[in-house]
Formats: sequence, C-alpha cells, structure tokens
Amino acid sequence: MARKKIIAGNWKMNMTPSEAVELVNTLKPLVANDEVDVVFCVPAIDIIPVMEAAKGSNIQVGAENMYFEEKGAYTGEISPAMLTDVGVKYVILGHSERREYFGETNEDINKKMHKAFEHGITPIMCCGETLTQREQGVTMDFIRQQVKVGFLGITAEQAKTAVIAYEPIWAIGTGKTATTEQAQEVCADIRKCIAEIYDEATAEAIRIQYGGSVNAGTAADLFAQADIDGGLVGGAALKPDFGKIVNYK
Ligand code: PEP
Repeated sequence: MARKKIIAGNWKMNMTPSEAVELVNTLKPLVANDEVDVVFCVPAIDIIPVMEAAKGSNIQVGAENMYFEEKGAYTGEISPAMLTDVGVKYVILGHSERREYFGETNEDINKKMHKAFEHGITPIMCCGETLTQREQGVTMDFIRQQVKVGFLGITAEQAKTAVIAYEPIWAIGTGKTATTEQAQEVCADIRKCIAEIYDEATAEAIRIQYGGSVNAGTAADLFAQADIDGGLVGGAALKPDFGKIVNYK
C-alpha cells in the first residue's frame, strides 16, 4: 500500500499565541489538501489556540518536544498526558537543536519514544549528520546508531506507525538543501536499517521525511523520491509558501 505523505511544520521558538492564531488563519485555506497529512508542530503555549483556530480544517497539531515521565517534579517540562488531553497526535522527538542545545541523547529520545507510543502519540523522530560526519564518510554509521538506539524496545507494530525525519544538520536553517539524490540515498538507507531491525513489512510501512531548508522550489523533486514520504519544514512553515509545499504536485 502506498504510504501517505506527511508534511509537518516545525515552528521552533517562533510565534506568540496571538501571532500563531493569525498564521493559522492565513495558512488554513492554503494547506487544504486531504491527500497528505498536514501537521503543525508548535510551541507548547500555542497548542491550544492553534487547535481552536484549526478546528474544521485538515490541520493536525503536534508538539515540538515532550518529557518521558508521567508527572512530578520536572519543572518546565510537558508530559504526554498534557498533550493527549488537548488532542495532540504528533510529537517531534530528538530534533538536532534539542540534541545540540539541550543535551538530549539517543537514550533520552528512546525513553520519549516509548512514552509517546504508550500514550498513542505518533513520534516524528529526527536524525541526521553534521557536515564533518558527511565529509568523513560516516553519515550512515551515525544515523544507524541514532535509529537503532531510538527504536530500542519499540515493537514492529509501533514502528510501522512512526515517522522518521532525516535532517542533515548542515541543511537546517542554512538555505542549503541536500540534493534530491543525497536525501533519497540516506532515506533509503534508513529504510534498510528499519528492515534489519524489524522486517520488510515494517520498513515498507514506516514514513520517512526529509527536512533541511525545504522550500516551495525544492519540495516537488524531494517528495517524488521513492523513499521520501514528505517533509519536516522549519522556516518555510511560517510563511504562505507552506501552502505551496503542501500542494507540491
Ligand atoms: C527543522 O527545523 O526541522 C528544519 C528543517 O528547518 P529549516 O526548514 O528551516 O531548515
């Protein structure tokens, strides 16, 4: 069965709640496309107003992060139940900015993956290499480690519903998109890695996005690749251009 594309925006630390509502109202008619899953991953404080503003549209709302404990003395964190209580269906886990600035490890991300599945939230698990790693030829060694540890103890049935975002760090927010060949090559290798951990059926089912400076001009070629099932979009998700990315065909 063909995999449904999933095109997600990662708003990062942008948009106050009132700006968020304005942006959703602008984007709502532009992203109306039921052929793909459209997800807006927004700052925690924007989740409820964005849900309200997106009501009746095809926009699904996701979080940008989540903690791996149920509740308690973890000042500043957001629990999975807080997200599901307001209807959140997706969560970005292990974004390279969280790994780099907040010290998240593959092991932390694995704990978060378990919690997400336990609560019925679909994880969008990010992976990707630095420029140095690419130049040293260790891109896939590094990504395989991220994927293997990230999915440790996750069942095949769960993995089939997960989303992996391949995001080369050198392409995030830099305006440097990986070439379609580079992006397809790594996404295909990630699928192979999933087949090795699980089986062919799981590898065929899991959705793998490309992320890193995707824009209205590059989306169509990227998303036409056999192993690229959509995109995780940062900067361009905050602009009307996101409508063109969602309607890339
Ligand atoms: C991201 O943050 O996930 C991302 C891909 O950002 P950008 O599209 O701005 O490179």
